[in-house]
Parts: sequence; structure tokens; C-alpha cells
Amino acid sequence: MALVVQKYGGSSVGDANRIKQVARRIAQRREAGDDLVVVVSAMGDTTDELIALAEQITGEPEARELDLLLSTGEIVSSTLVSMALKHLGQPAVALSGAQAGIGTDRRYGRARILKVDPQRLRRELDEGKIVIVAGFQGITEEMDITTLGRGGSDTTAVAIAAALGAERCEIYTDVDGIYTADPRIEPRPSKLPEIRYEEMLELASYGAKVMHPRAVELGAVYKVRILVASSFNDSPGTLIHSTSSGQVHGGSPMMEQRNKVMGIACDADVGRITVRGVPDRPGIATTIFEPLAEAGISVDTIVQNASVERLTDLTFTVAKADLKRAVEIVKPVAQSIGAPEVLADTGLAKVSVVGAGMQSGPGYAARMFRTLFQEGINIELITTSEIRITCIIDEGRTEDAVRALHLAFELEEA
Ligand code: ASP
Ligand code: MG
Repeated sequence: MALVVQKYGGSSVGDANRIKQVARRIAQRREAGDDLVVVVSAMGDTTDELIALAEQITGEPEARELDLLLSTGEIVSSTLVSMALKHLGQPAVALSGAQAGIGTDRRYGRARILKVDPQRLRRELDEGKIVIVAGFQGITEEMDITTLGRGGSDTTAVAIAAALGAERCEIYTDVDGIYTADPRIEPRPSKLPEIRYEEMLELASYGAKVMHPRAVELGAVYKVRILVASSFNDSPGTLIHSTSSGQVHGGSPMMEQRNKVMGIACDADVGRITVRGVPDRPGIATTIFEPLAEAGISVDTIVQNASVERLTDLTFTVAKADLKRAVEIVKPVAQSIGAPEVLADTGLAKVSVVGAGMQSGPGYAARMFRTLFQEGINIELITTSEIRITCIIDEGRTEDAVRALHLAFELEEA
């Protein structure tokens, strides 16, 4: 008998029928012998609707009131799931985030979980109940209700699994696992039986649509094994974990010589800034990047060209949403160091080949560059990390690049 935390997303509890269906799945699992804590999102588009409603009242709803309002969405779904379980004869109890012991800081709309006090959860479990927890919310020391940011129920589930030392955390959603590429772009993606936390995080925008990155990070820190699977069918799903390949029970042992590339990621959220004619002397990079860091803007790819007559061009990328602000910060800095020009552009995308262990095998980068060359795709910038090789290319060629790389690295469904 194991303790398992499950999470059901908004579409899985979208209406009364789906709620009853989810309750039947939970009941079956309980009958198979597992102890269960179940975290739920708000029904369907409830959160969006509540935000729209608040905006009809006032252009700028106060953050505290908005969080209290939004928290009701998950309270509705948790109570209904609990009622459905009781109707099936299963002892259950619904708890708000606060009742479940989720303590957060005071950053309304994007609160961070500071601690989970699992006493109440344990007591209910000891009494043999299935505990249904309203996701996406917590409470501050001052007893104000906060929300964790959009998609935050995943984070609630992983945090509870960590606090209870659960066997694993199961995220049930409307996709049935993690694929080697975004299925909306690549026609023949394969489903991965398993993936490491770091690899999952590198899947960028595609991965983030499946699961909240903060939840994956939390899982990595506390070593919570996370299964992503469909709530609509019984197909096996993808296990996110840290153990080396082959140790996962139920998964097929993988050969050492397997292709170390597990997927192709892409992300169109790229804004590029180039500072032209930067004097090539110590301290310049600090002068430019420190103010950006202070403004909370994270800089991604940074490239400094070889200097010609002690002048160099410095190029870096930021999220599109930060581009305007970043330019406003960099312009006066550039002026102060005598750099004549700051250029900004969008229309770019990142394409990455992702896989732990690529570094130890030669030829991955070469194969990526050759593939893009054969497609006639120009590489604007290149960066690498331990688990990925990234090229920045013209946004209009993103889909071609993903498909060509998927083929070149032999990732298509067998
Ligand atoms: N209901 C919240 C949202 O839509 C939280 C979640 O679904 O995880 O963002
Ligand atoms: Mg939702």
C-alpha cells in the first residue's frame, strides 16, 4: 500500500459528468489499496472567468481581493469531487489550501510556498479518508489567502507529495505524456516512458503547457517522482524522475548506447538586443548586465564578438515581454560607455536538441548544424549547456527546423 498524490487539471473536472468520472477513477485506485491525496484545479475556464468578472467591476482589482476571489474556483471543484466520492461510498474530505497547511509568502498572484504543515492531511489519511485539496492556493502568516500563479495546482501537488514523502505524484491532464517534440508541430512524435527533471525543464514552452515548470523544479529538489498521464484514458504516461535509465520499475531498461537526444524543443519567446561598438575592456559586461538583473530581467543567450580595434558587439536575448524594458535600461548604459547603437528585434526562435549525456557523445552539435544547413536555415546564435544545444533562428522556420531535427535524430514513432 502506497501513499500517492494525484492532481487533476481543469479540463478533467470541467463539468459534473467529468467530476463523477474522476471520482470513479479515484475510487478504483483507492480500492486497489493506495492512500490518496487528490489536488484539483478549478473547473474548466473558471479562473479566466473570475478574472474577467473582476475586470468588469474595476480595471485594477486589488491583489488581495483578487486572490481570495480566484481561490474559490478550486474550492468549488474540490468540494464537488469530495461529494462525488462520498456518493460512491468512499470516505472523503475536501480541504482548502489553507486547511491543508499550505503556507506561503505575501506575494499575491504569484505566492511561493514557504512550508507545508502536513498534520491535518495526516490526520484525515489516518482516518481512512481520501483527501481532496483545492490547488493553486495557500495562506500567509497573517491569514490572508494567496494564489500561486497560473497553473499553480501542479506546484501544490508536488509540494504536498514532498511534505508527505509520497511514493509519487501523478499529474492527470488532457495530454497523455511527454513527447519527443510538440505534437502540434511534429506529425510523428514518440511518447517518452521517462524523462529527467532537467530535460523536462528544457522542453521550454511545450513542456510548460503540460506541466508548470515551478512544479518540476520543486520535484527535482525534493526528488518527487512525477507521472504525467491522461485523465481520459489508461495509456501509460511519462515518469519524470532523476534515477538513471533502466532503474525505473515498469519501464523498459534502456541501453547505454541509446540515442542520447530525447527531444526537440522550440520557443518563440525570444527578443534580441545588440549593443554595437562596445569598448573592449574589463567591467563592461557588469555595467550592462547588472542593471538588468536589478530590474529582474533574466538574460538568456549572451554572445560577445571578437573585437575589432578594441570595439565589440554584444548580443543577448530576453523574453519578448521584457524586451522594451530591457532596451530602456540598456540605452543610457550604452551611451555612458560610448557604445553608439542599441538594436532590438524579435522574429526569432530558439530550437534545441535536448538530452542528458549528449556532452559525452561526439557529433551531436555537428549533426544539428548540418541538418539546419541542409534545410537552408541560418543560425543566428548558438548556445549549449550540459543537456542541450540551442540555435537561434528565424521564427518563420521554427516548424521546419523541429521536423528536420526530429528526423535527423531518429526520434519518430517506431
Ligand atoms: N486554476 C488555476 C489556473 O487556471 C490553477 C491551475 O489550473 O493549476 O491557472
Ligand atoms: Mg486551470
